[in-house]
Amino acid sequence: MTATPFVPAAKSTCRVLIVGATGFMGQFVAEASLLTGRPTYLLLRPGSVSPSKAKSIKNLQDKGAIILHGLINDKEVMEKILKEHEIDVVISAVGGEKVLDQLTLIEAMKASGTIKRFLPSEFGHDVDRADPVEPGLTMYIEKRRVRRSIEASGIPYTYICCNSIASWPYYDNTHPSEVVPPLDQFQIYGDGIVKAYFVAGTDIGKFTMKTVDDTRTLDKCVHFRPTCNLYNINELASLWEKKIGKTLPRVTVTENDLLAAENRMPQSIVASFTHDIFIKGCQINFQIDGPQDVEVSTLYPDETFITLDQCFNDFLVKVDRKSISTDEITTTNCMAESMAITATRA
Ligand code: NDP
Repeated sequence: MTATPFVPAAKSTCRVLIVGATGFMGQFVAEASLLTGRPTYLLLRPGSVSPSKAKSIKNLQDKGAIILHGLINDKEVMEKILKEHEIDVVISAVGGEKVLDQLTLIEAMKASGTIKRFLPSEFGHDVDRADPVEPGLTMYIEKRRVRRSIEASGIPYTYICCNSIASWPYYDNTHPSEVVPPLDQFQIYGDGIVKAYFVAGTDIGKFTMKTVDDTRTLDKCVHFRPTCNLYNINELASLWEKKIGKTLPRVTVTENDLLAAENRMPQSIVASFTHDIFIKGCQINFQIDGPQDVEVSTLYPDETFITLDQCFNDFLVKVDRKSISTDEITTTNCMAESMAITATRA
């Protein structure tokens, strides 16, 4: 992998359409796009939204987001939207169960003929390299199918492979960063020594937006491997113990336990990714030296990453400090509103 010097572009005016901005990952991307000052359009599904989604839409609108309504699996509507608003960049963060809806979006982008970059809903592992067991494999097969369709269409693309969201990697929760790390005992996967990269959601958004008009990321996989955030699960447990000032029991969850994780969706999908990360080492068992690979810290060496240590400080704020010393640790506001769990992650 060669590091080509970065020539900062003049303030970008490219018009960005974000699909899935009411979702977990999409919100980080939408916030980051607005921070860059780019004209930012959000595609929302028609119909009513929950109070928490309505609040986050209003927050994004207050920051300048322009709201459009439509479904990505409606080619006619999407083609019209792309043309009418002269969209340059489309970023999709649809959830795992909607990955194939992007095939129609690709047709619409191709027909519009104006799209300068498409970032499909990836935001996890390099799906051409990682090989999880089922049911995670099915999602990867679908993400691979979307990749092949983009490449055949000739639409310029960037694949964001940001690895794990910075949080305790619960194996049965699709959005673990909404939950504080354990307060009773740690579940350690396998021997607990396989490392993974953890990236804060705001950094996923920030670096994603850096790639959208960077020529070095054109038709590339952008891997997120911040060395400051490379931890195995035992190290993660020790970091959290330091924060709460208390040692917790460590219970082993074996490979077989993960493979036999409750056969219910979407928790079993998350268990299959957890197996791939912490047993098979899918984030670290390959070199990123192919012609299609670039690494984000190499691309933007002057930018710093939020550390996992800082993220754990934020989690600590959500824990009732007084109760830590009394063995009765409780959490406050760790989930403002429980979100419907959808089959997603990595
Ligand atoms: P969510 O389910 O939280 O959000 C999905 C979003 O897509 C919602 O805004 C939803 O709208 C919208 N949407 C779904 N279908 C359509 C459609 N046909 N047209 C328009 N909008 C649509 O998804 P996640 O944020 O969990 O997942 C996004 C990506 O991030 C996935 O690829 C997932 O694998 C990855 N991910 C990675 C993680 C990691 O640790 N690396 C963690 C979590 C996700 P509505 O609000 O109406 O439902």
